[in-house]
Amino acid sequence: MIKVLDKKIADKIAAGEVIERPVSIIKELVENSIDAGSTSILVEIKKGGKSYIRVTDNGCGIPKDEAEKAFLRHATSKINTVEDLEAIETLGFRGEALASICAVTRTELLTKQNEEKTGTRLIIHGGEIISNTVTGCPDGTTFVVTDLFYNTPARQKFMKSDASESSMIIDLISQMALYYKDISFRLINNGNILFSTSGDGDRLKIISKVYPNISIKDLVPVDYHTQKMSVTGYISAPSVTRPTKTGQIFFVNGRVINSKVIEKGIKEGYSERLFDGRHPIAYLFIDINAADLDVNIHPNKKEIRFNDDNLVVASLSAAIKESLASKEAVPKAINIFREAPLTNIERSEQINTKNITSTNSASSLSVLDGPEIPKICENKSCLLKEEKNVYLEECSKSIEEKNSDYNFNNLNLSIDKPLITPFDFDEISITGSVFNTYITAVDGENLYLIDQHAAHERIFYEKLVNEYINEEKLKQPILFPIIIDVDFSSKENDETWLNLLGNMGFTIELFGPSSYRISEIPTFMDIKEAEDFVNDFIQGYIANNTNNTIIINKLIMKACKSAIKANDKISLDEIHALIKDLKNCVNPFSCPHGRPTFIKLSKHEIEKLFKRV
Ligand code: ADP
Ligand code: MG
Repeated sequence: MIKVLDKKIADKIAAGEVIERPVSIIKELVENSIDAGSTSILVEIKKGGKSYIRVTDNGCGIPKDEAEKAFLRHATSKINTVEDLEAIETLGFRGEALASICAVTRTELLTKQNEEKTGTRLIIHGGEIISNTVTGCPDGTTFVVTDLFYNTPARQKFMKSDASESSMIIDLISQMALYYKDISFRLINNGNILFSTSGDGDRLKIISKVYPNISIKDLVPVDYHTQKMSVTGYISAPSVTRPTKTGQIFFVNGRVINSKVIEKGIKEGYSERLFDGRHPIAYLFIDINAADLDVNIHPNKKEIRFNDDNLVVASLSAAIKESLASKEAVPKAINIFREAPLTNIERSEQINTKNITSTNSASSLSVLDGPEIPKICENKSCLLKEEKNVYLEECSKSIEEKNSDYNFNNLNLSIDKPLITPFDFDEISITGSVFNTYITAVDGENLYLIDQHAAHERIFYEKLVNEYINEEKLKQPILFPIIIDVDFSSKENDETWLNLLGNMGFTIELFGPSSYRISEIPTFMDIKEAEDFVNDFIQGYIANNTNNTIIINKLIMKACKSAIKANDKISLDEIHALIKDLKNCVNPFSCPHGRPTFIKLSKHEIEKLFKRV
C-alpha cells in the first residue's frame, strides 16, 4: 500500500541527506551566520559535537515573528523569485538546513535583531516546538544543538569517535577562518579555546593562529593574476616540506576542494627543488571564471572539474615559480643547509635532489649490467637472472609483505631473515667511500658499493622495530627537550600516535595547547633525526588515520627515510661503525623500501669491462 509519510518521518529522512554528522550541522550553522552578515562567529563543541554544538554570531538576527518559520522546510529569506536563483550571493538558499537539523536533535535558538527590544528563545526537540518565549539577549543569533540523532539511533552508529568528529570540525573551522579573513572566528573544544582570529584580514596572522605548527617565516606569498585566473595565498619555501599533502589547502572560488590538477601544478612549480615523496605546504586561493569550471558537480562535493586542466597546471606552476624566485623566498633558502648533527664532521652541503633520487632509481644497478647474485632465493619469481633488480626488490618485498601481515593493534612487528645472503660481512674489508654516498668494500673476488643512505635507513628501521618489540626501551634523555607542534586536528587523535611513538622509545608528552615535549629519544638517534622522525611519523599517521599494520609499517619506514642525512661525508671510523650496525641487521641487504643496500661487481666483470677477458 502506498502511503504518504507523515511530516515527522519525512523530515527525519530528509535530515539524513543534509545532516550526516556533527560537522555537517556546524557547516550549515556557520554558513547561515556568514549569510547573516556576521563579523564575529563563535563555535563551541563538546565530545566531537555529538553531545553539544553552539554557534553564536553577531549577525542580523531573525525577526521574532519569523523564528518558527525559519525551521520549516524550504523556508528561506534568501530568495524570492526564480530570477533570484540566477544570482545567488549567499551560501544557503534551499531553506533546508534548519528543518533538517531540528528534526534529529534538540535545538535551541536565541536570536535578536538590532531594532528589536527583546529577543526570542525557541526550543525544538526532534522537529517539535517545545516553547517559544521572549527573552533578553544580545543582538545576533545563537544556536545550541544537543543530543545529535537521539531520535534516530541508526544514524548515531555512523558517527566516528569523538576525536575523529572533532578533528573534522576543527579542520572545517580552520579553513573557514582562513577563507573569511574579515570575520573573527573563535573555536572552543571541550571548554578550551583552540584559537581565535581577529578578523582583521591578515591571512598570515590567521595561519599562525589556526595552524600553530606552521612557522610563518617559512611561507612565501603567492600573488599571481592573469585574465583567466588568479592565484593568491602562501606556499612554503622548498626547505620546508612534509611527507604528506596534509599541509595543502586549496580554495577554488571560495570552496575548499581536492584536486590532482592543482597538486600537479604545484609540483611542477617546485620542479626539482623537492625531494621525491616530499610535499610543500600550500594555502592557495584560486579564482577562475565560472565559465572555465564544470558546474555539474554537486556543490557539497570536494571535487571540481576544470574545463582546461593544462591551463590550471601551467598557471599554478608559473605562480609558484614566480613566488619562489621572489626576494622573499631567498633568505629562506638558508634553511636548506641542515644543522650539523653531532656525528658529522662537515656541515652538509646543499642537498642535491638529483644525487639522492638517483639512489632511488634502479639506474645505479643498470650501469653494472649483470652483477652476479647467488640464486639461493626460494621464491620462484626471483630466479629470473636477467631481472636482477626486480629480483632483489621482490625478495625484500616478500619479506616486507610478510611483516605487514601482523595486526598492528598489537603491533606484532618482526623482521624476517633475508631469503638470500649475497655476501658475508666478515669476509669483506672496507676500502673507503666515493661520492660521499657509496662505501666501497672488497672480498677476494668482488667489489661492493654499499649505499650509505639505504644502509642507514635499514639500520634505523630495524632498531625502531626492535625497540618496539623490547619490553625495555633504550632511551637517552636529552638536555634540551625537543618541542614539536601539531595542528589542532592532529592533536585530537594524539592518544594513538603518542602510544606508538612511546613504544618506539620516545618519551613524549603534551606541552601547551598543541605542542608536545620530547624529553627522551631512542639511543641510536641524534636530536635532529629524532625530531624529523617524529614530525614525519605524526604527519603520516594523521594523513592515513588508520591502525592498519601495513600502513603503519610503511609510515615508520618513510619517517626513517626522511630522518636520515643524505649525502653526508662520513669518516672511516663512522663507515666501520655503520657497516657493523648493518651487519647486525636481520636483513641487511635491502633498505626498508625494498631497494638494495649494495651492489656487487665481480672481479671477472671488471676484467670484462677492461676487455682483459
Ligand atoms: P537557507 O540558509 O538555505 O536559507 P536555512 O534552513 O539554513 O536555509 O535557514 C533558514 C532561514 O533562517 C535563513 O534563510 C535565514 O533567514 C534564517 N537564519 C538562519 N540562521 C540565521 C542566522 N544565524 N542569522 C540570521 N538569520 C538566520
Ligand atoms: Mg542555510
